[in-house]
Amino acid sequence: MNWKALLLVGGVSAQVCLSPLLQAHEPVTRARTPVRLPDIPGFHTLKCDFHIHTVFSDGLVWPSVRSEEAWRQGLDAIAITDHIEYQPHKADVSTNHNRSYEIARGHGDELEVLVIRGSEITRSMPPGHLNAIFLTNAMLLATDKWQDAIQAARDQGAFIFWNHPGWSPQLTDGQIKWHPEHTQLVEQDLMHGIEVVNGRDYYPEAHRWAIERKLTLFSNSDIHQPIGHDYHIFLGDHRPLTLVFARERSIAAIKEALFDRRTAVYSGGRLLGDKRFLRPLFDASVRVLTPQVTIRGSGRVFLQIHNDADVSFTLERSSEPTDLTVPQKITLPGQRTVLLQLRARGTPAAGTRNFALPFRVANALTAPDEALDVTLPVEVAFTR
Ligand code: ZN
Repeated sequence: MNWKALLLVGGVSAQVCLSPLLQAHEPVTRARTPVRLPDIPGFHTLKCDFHIHTVFSDGLVWPSVRSEEAWRQGLDAIAITDHIEYQPHKADVSTNHNRSYEIARGHGDELEVLVIRGSEITRSMPPGHLNAIFLTNAMLLATDKWQDAIQAARDQGAFIFWNHPGWSPQLTDGQIKWHPEHTQLVEQDLMHGIEVVNGRDYYPEAHRWAIERKLTLFSNSDIHQPIGHDYHIFLGDHRPLTLVFARERSIAAIKEALFDRRTAVYSGGRLLGDKRFLRPLFDASVRVLTPQVTIRGSGRVFLQIHNDADVSFTLERSSEPTDLTVPQKITLPGQRTVLLQLRARGTPAAGTRNFALPFRVANALTAPDEALDVTLPVEVAFTR
């Protein structure tokens, strides 16, 4: 940060930032920047990060700071998931595996950020690293055998997911691999989800597995440093988020939604998930402001299309109606209204017709190679 001046006013330090980039936010206070992704019919769209470290394992941050980072970045809920088996700061902090959650929860309650008790079960592959969340006592996960740790979590009603399956130390002969142990865990109701995104990394293979094996999709930061070291929200950047479609804003409702696989991934300006969530999310974000237009003869007309979400949508035309020419590609930037030009093809017969202009959303994927299909509704009156 480019601080050019530091003033002392009435004994209170007031920092004045002269960077043109940051002036809009001056003074830099404890401000919340919302994540603008709308609710969908029947569900709240909760912005969550279920993989976070503190000094109680190998993180570099005190737990209460995690709650405030989440509040500032517009999140609804976080899970504190320190490693059970790896505590490099144990000479300086408690080895009570519940402690980081308790501290984060205290400040979370003050800020109305939902804080979930979790742990990262940290074993070699297979099964690799798994997060168990909604625990009641993390101490019971400190066992010799990994099977006992996972069972201890499940006995507490935990939701369990596989972390960063494409992380290089977890690869087998350089390849991301599903092991028989993972099949066993799924069959025994001991693994319910998988990180499709961890930090900046997307694992298409994990996305495929999630679809095939009916696992809940996750996108988490796995943050160890202060969040501002890795994600620059004032530059339009954002941490990876798991979007949870919950009946209400509560930990119980989040847990119910996770077991029901009602999540989507929001990462790097991209959405991943089932069309039953991505399509209503698109429809709630994007609105044709001029749904009734007139085209005279072989002329043209501009549709005004508003995108109320943070995410920019890149649309590619899937087909063209007989009477209209439609641009092959159009971007709908977040929080903007754009013009979409329609032109009569030839000289259409006079009359009023309804169209559902079909597009694929290149940055909203329902599978690794499958873009979301959407339509934009418009009623066109063709006149002479
Ligand atoms: Zn981790």
